[in-house]
Amino acid sequence: MRTSEIRTRWLDYFAANDHEIRPSVPLVSPEPSILFTVAGMVPFIPYILGTEPAPWPRAASVQKCIRTNDIDNVGKTTRHGTFFQMNGNFSFGDYFKEGAIDYAWNLLTGSTDEGGYGLDGDRLWMTIWEKDQVSFDHWTRVIGVPAERVQKLPFEEISWSTGQPGPAGSCCEIHYDRGSAYGPDGGPEVDVQGDRFLEIWNLVFDEFVRGEGRGHDFELVGKLDRTAIDTGAGLERLAFLLQDKPNMYEIDEVYPVIAAAQEMSGRTYGLGAAGPEAGDAYHDDVRMRVVADHVRSSLMLIGDGVRPGNDGRGYVLRRLIRRAVRSMRLLGVDSASLPTLLTVSKEAMKASYPELDTNWSTISEVAYAEEDAFRRTLTAGTTILDTAVAEAKNRSGRPVLAGDRAFALHDTYGFPIDLTLEMAAEQGVEVDEDGFRVLMEEQRERARADSRAKKTGLSDVRVFHEIQKSMGGPSIFLGYTESAADAVVT
Ligand code: ATP
Ligand code: MG
Ligand code: MG
Ligand code: MG
Repeated sequence: MRTSEIRTRWLDYFAANDHEIRPSVPLVSPEPSILFTVAGMVPFIPYILGTEPAPWPRAASVQKCIRTNDIDNVGKTTRHGTFFQMNGNFSFGDYFKEGAIDYAWNLLTGSTDEGGYGLDGDRLWMTIWEKDQVSFDHWTRVIGVPAERVQKLPFEEISWSTGQPGPAGSCCEIHYDRGSAYGPDGGPEVDVQGDRFLEIWNLVFDEFVRGEGRGHDFELVGKLDRTAIDTGAGLERLAFLLQDKPNMYEIDEVYPVIAAAQEMSGRTYGLGAAGPEAGDAYHDDVRMRVVADHVRSSLMLIGDGVRPGNDGRGYVLRRLIRRAVRSMRLLGVDSASLPTLLTVSKEAMKASYPELDTNWSTISEVAYAEEDAFRRTLTAGTTILDTAVAEAKNRSGRPVLAGDRAFALHDTYGFPIDLTLEMAAEQGVEVDEDGFRVLMEEQRERARADSRAKKTGLSDVRVFHEIQKSMGGPSIFLGYTESAADAVVT
């Protein structure tokens, strides 16, 4: 079943069950407090919190999402993309736990001839809050799932809240057992990697009011007047199961980019299936998956109006493009690769997002210009970095790349510190980040002094350029530490 069809089936199923079908909102979050739309519930937050009346009692959507906090998982786990689509159904004071469970079970296990996904119900496992008797009874007595496949967890492992006093609740997560080839028995409770028991759908039951406290350390202080259901099922995760693929990077919407990267590099994908022990073959597989993921995320971000830049959203996009380009380089491809890869990704995505074709000239121009700029930076800086790494290794003791080298790379070659850190780490070398920061601070101080001097008429052209560079030069990356995702999803 093609991904675009899994998507359509979702929307048709919930439309037939009286849900208002809502379009995806853009990746640039309508919620000003978060950088990107990280979950299907983002556009519905006011209705879930009850701060605005819900225009419909039930809604459903397939929401485009970006989660930067998953970037390090990309290509290494089977199931994390920086871009993905979250299928969701929502109830604002309408149906509650039993209804949400029925919809989920019927759609997942329903026959493919009748609009369902046809998954084998005997492979589904649930995790619920240990005190959620209603869900336990419904799964075991009404749906008929054996009690051992409904695992009970303490509240802190399966709760949801916005991170502040207000609505809170427990979740019920539905997992698919991919079989003994992927790990030992024991269910999702023991499978911390999530390789065998794949989390596919999270049902969030909002019913409580929580008090003050950080993280999961809070008390439930009351019950909501009006409950809400918020669910999210990863479209790519359903697709990889339904297409019988080993991971989400090999589905129809993503794999064509891997195929193209393979052809361009002359390296074969899939030889590293044994994992890190497979050495270079494994690293090549990861690189091709990273390329496919990041190219797709960049395509979708540019399509939604994000432009490469030095902070916030723009820097996330810049970083994704740079990682894709650098991964291609590590695969031995030195020439521009986005003209091929981005086009292939667009072709794979346009069935669900026809606007990618309409906006193609702008999207492609933005992406290609960024790749060109980065390739120039890389060419200039890589030799310098390699020399500094070799020096660090030649000194006795733990190899550390000196702060002044990292600073020179930043200042002269436009290498952001995170890129230096990443490239040095690949060669087993640390970077003296403190030393780097001291030099950065000194430079800022100089720029401030120069700018004071300029105001008093003592400046010259060189000073002006330096100030410009210090203001507009690459800044330190903040995107990944913005784990706002944690605040709104579990
Ligand atoms: P995981 O534990 O696998 O990281 P999660 O618990 O962080 O997932 P939720 O916040 O519960 O995920 O999001 C709801 C659903 O969205 C998940 O059950 C999964 O199907 C999907 N999903 C979440 N993160 C990703 C991602 N990075 N890539 C693809 N799908 C995702
Ligand atoms: Mg996660
Ligand atoms: Mg999870
Ligand atoms: Mg979850």
